[in-house]
Amino acid sequence: AAGAKEASSSERKGSDRGPPGHSMLAPFTSGTQQSDYHPLVITRSEGVYIFDNEGKKYLDALAGLWSTALGGNEKRLVDAATKQLSVLPFYHSFWNRTTEPSLKLAEELVDLFKPVKMAKVFYTNSGSEANDTQVKIIWYYNNHRGKPKKKKFIAREKAYHGSTLVTASLSGLSNLQNGFDLPDAFPYVLRAECPHYWRNHLPGESEEEYATRLADNLEKLILKEDPETIAAFFAEPVMGAGGVMPPPATYFEKVQAVLKKYDILFVADEVVTAFGRLGTMFGCEKYDIKPDLVSLAKAITSAYAPLGALLVSQKIWEEISAHSDKLGQFGHGFTYSGHPVSCAIALEAIQIYKEKKIDEYVAKVGPIWQEGMRAYEKSPIVAEIRGLGLIMAVEFGDKDPKKPFPASWGTGSFFGAECAKQGLLVRISGDIIMMSPTLVITEDEIKDFIRMFGEALKITENHIRELQAS
Ligand code: PMP
Repeated sequence: AAGAKEASSSERKGSDRGPPGHSMLAPFTSGTQQSDYHPLVITRSEGVYIFDNEGKKYLDALAGLWSTALGGNEKRLVDAATKQLSVLPFYHSFWNRTTEPSLKLAEELVDLFKPVKMAKVFYTNSGSEANDTQVKIIWYYNNHRGKPKKKKFIAREKAYHGSTLVTASLSGLSNLQNGFDLPDAFPYVLRAECPHYWRNHLPGESEEEYATRLADNLEKLILKEDPETIAAFFAEPVMGAGGVMPPPATYFEKVQAVLKKYDILFVADEVVTAFGRLGTMFGCEKYDIKPDLVSLAKAITSAYAPLGALLVSQKIWEEISAHSDKLGQFGHGFTYSGHPVSCAIALEAIQIYKEKKIDEYVAKVGPIWQEGMRAYEKSPIVAEIRGLGLIMAVEFGDKDPKKPFPASWGTGSFFGAECAKQGLLVRISGDIIMMSPTLVITEDEIKDFIRMFGEALKITENHIRELQAS
């Protein structure tokens, strides 16, 4: 599914509205899509809804790209941005110069993250840059604590950690790698299994037994490669773009025990899961993960401006600062590291998350959405529904994971287009539909979401029945 075309689900052929064509090289879009189809142009947002340039309204089922946690037009975020823009639109954070919002936000993030004691925050512009920086900071840390051989990273099949050269290599999705000499061009990545119970468990194997088998396989991989050469394990608490895979029971407990045994760091990629999405402020809280480093982006500003961040634990920082004479400067950073406007927006977003108790709100409405949607598990074309809180995937196919629908049926794309007609804009990856609406979605909007999904599902069931009959 990963390499399949990701349709915008409301694309129109050129003939509808004159020839398509624009000068933008569109991310994750094929050449034919760009030359033969008009892009869907979004012009306005309001709460959970977005509007296209013809005025059509959609419930934005993915909240931008799992990111607009507070929905459209949250005035407090606009005001925070405007205020900062009018006082100090920009100053950098190099050479021990910085701005007030960057300092305040770092305090706030260190305080907000409870699973382990965090010491420092490093700012980037995106999730990819956050994970790219993780690689550098981990090498820097190991080089200076006398472990220069510890260079390799373990990441999982179907992981999404970004699209720069290094993070596309960490990612376990071929569509990020094909055509770019990856992952070979960054030969420091070892691949662990994707913890997808439904697809991969053996007959009669419980979730716990499956988790034990994965942890055993991880240990075998480490021993085969030599633990002295392995620096860190990267993981999303719930895998997102690879198809929304929550971990099987006891998985992270067992994996962490193995990593600890061999002095391998844990990097929690919380780019999607942080700030309430799973019903806890961080995914690490949900699964009792004690990370050494954490990557953040997306909901940190509710996507109102670009910002990524790394949380660096006390353990890592103590080691780095102990060698600071030898190290000299930390020779890494971006012009916009800690951009004051982004940081001011993030401070306000976090204030709103706290005031609204966003984690508790998601813990309350998430199950209403999950249970409502799970009624569709009975559909003959639904293979699996998985998720928690406000993140979910519906996978089409036979109930037997070994029997996917033929790609030529285009089930996911057909369904996505029907959803768009209903006014629900979902993400399609092959036959997997991924959804993560804004965290402030109301119960009425959830009802409407489930209804539109159901209408599109009925039409798709009929369509597949006809295909099966022919
Ligand atoms: N990590 C995860 C878990 C992600 O889902 C993403 C983006 N979808 C990234 C990293 C990369 O973030 P960005 O697109 O901001 O570079």
